Amino acid sequence: MEDTIFDKIISGEMDADIVFENDDVVAFRDINPQAPTHVLVVPRARMESIAETTNHDPQVIGRIIHGIAETARTLGLEENGYRVVFNTGTDALQTVPYIHAHVLAGRKMAWPPG
Ligand code: AMP
Repeated sequence: MEDTIFDKIISGEMDADIVFENDDVVAFRDINPQAPTHVLVVPRARMESIAETTNHDPQVIGRIIHGIAETARTLGLEENGYRVVFNTGTDALQTVPYIHAHVLAGRKMAWPPG
């Protein structure tokens, strides 16, 4: 698989506004924010999307969710809440083929999502 933007951010080849990292994930601000807080949480374990998680140890997936929650806690998002989105595939408008969670917060969200 060719390197994506997120491979380059994780390796340090490309700059990003990193807000949290641990052994499992790197979290950085989205370059085109859709909410006052919009962060992407990207696991160090490379996979294309949620669809590929079935090929991985469930513990890896658990650590990604843990990393998302730790990112939100670090940013002080727990009190008012936040939304977590994994765009997966074409209809969901996934543009970067490296699994990532959008963490959105800082305004009242709408439902259903667009
Ligand atoms: P998705 O459409 O779910 O694949 O989301 C990809 C996200 O990556 C979009 O919200 C983009 O704004 C964001 N993005 C693309 N390039 C960068 C970058 N260099 N730094 C931070 N976010 C980026």
